[in-house]
Amino acid sequence: MTESSSSFRNFAARLLDYEGVLVERVEPEGLELLAPAPVAHVLQIPELARLGFGMELPSNAERVGLESDWLERFGHLLGERGQAARVTLPVALPQLTNPERVVEHTVNFQNAVYRIVGVTPKWTRYLVMLFRVTAFSDEKRDSVVKLGFNLANSSPLDAIADQLLSAAIEIAAVTDAAVSAPASLPPDWTPAQLKSRAARALPERIEAHLAPFLKGMQRRLDRDLRRVHDYFNDLREESLLRLRKRLAVAEIETARERPRLEAITREYEAKVADLRHKYALRVDVTWSQTLEIVMPVQRVEILIRRRKGERRITLDWNPLARKLDVPPCEHSYTQSPARLVCDDRLHLTSPAAHAPCAGCDKAFCRACHPLQCPKCRREEG
Ligand SMILES: [Zn+2]
Ligand SMILES: [Zn+2]
Repeated sequence: MTESSSSFRNFAARLLDYEGVLVERVEPEGLELLAPAPVAHVLQIPELARLGFGMELPSNAERVGLESDWLERFGHLLGERGQAARVTLPVALPQLTNPERVVEHTVNFQNAVYRIVGVTPKWTRYLVMLFRVTAFSDEKRDSVVKLGFNLANSSPLDAIADQLLSAAIEIAAVTDAAVSAPASLPPDWTPAQLKSRAARALPERIEAHLAPFLKGMQRRLDRDLRRVHDYFNDLREESLLRLRKRLAVAEIETARERPRLEAITREYEAKVADLRHKYALRVDVTWSQTLEIVMPVQRVEILIRRRKGERRITLDWNPLARKLDVPPCEHSYTQSPARLVCDDRLHLTSPAAHAPCAGCDKAFCRACHPLQCPKCRREEG
């Protein structure tokens, strides 16, 4: 039994009990429910249902996990109460015994040096947002994509978001009284900041999330294309064969077969266009929930040096995940770890966000110049 699935089961049991559902634990790692009709309706389950939270399911159970849309279904049960929540996690904060090694392990600056200035215990605010992603093509697929940031330094939380969510769910389930956080916390982002960062960070996460679905779709498309191709190829060969036979006989017959051949080609092209249309992908993304998690961290201050420039940044070490923040790419907020430091303002970017311009080949920092190349003014796509 994993820690996260068992804490999710506890959370679900308490929430459902609170909503008037008769809940009984069944093994392995499941719940049996007798739900009032309105609750069953919101959760999209029968009034008598079984849910499974682990790898192994009880018989006739529906699987519930952080990867499925169940977080959202529970969110609907909470209604407005569940759309934006704040949880304080007063977890114990160990000392960082070897910050140099921790930083070395995470930080990968390709063109700059750094040194650690200090380590201080602090509190931070994490935002974990859930987005509902619906992909339509020949099939429809619904799922939930998570995106999280540390508000202190905009580091993306991909590596620790699941652990934070599980802990928040667990602790929210056992402590009803709100725990007070210290007064000194990172400030809110403006809606515009949040929107632009989420808009840049989301496509990469959604693509990665949809990759298996796209692969399956590509396989089905290839199979259908092959079938259509084989069918029309047979027709064409028959027609060509007739044409060749008749060539010897009479020119007049040839003139009759040629339009037929052209028609086959046209029909084939139309069929292929139909298939492309059938498999064309549309993806709808809607925000569904935001959870704010407030908790203590060890804040590591780092001095970055690039040529004559210097810049201080902070990275937080999270005691639950026992991981240090990945330095954010200040343009794309990508998950990939390599960073370049720009000459002018010492921005941190991924190599892709410091790539050569497609027009004039000069490399430039997209955090400094998000809209166009500073040299040839070519607009960024
Ligand atoms: Zn250029
Ligand atoms: Zn820059």
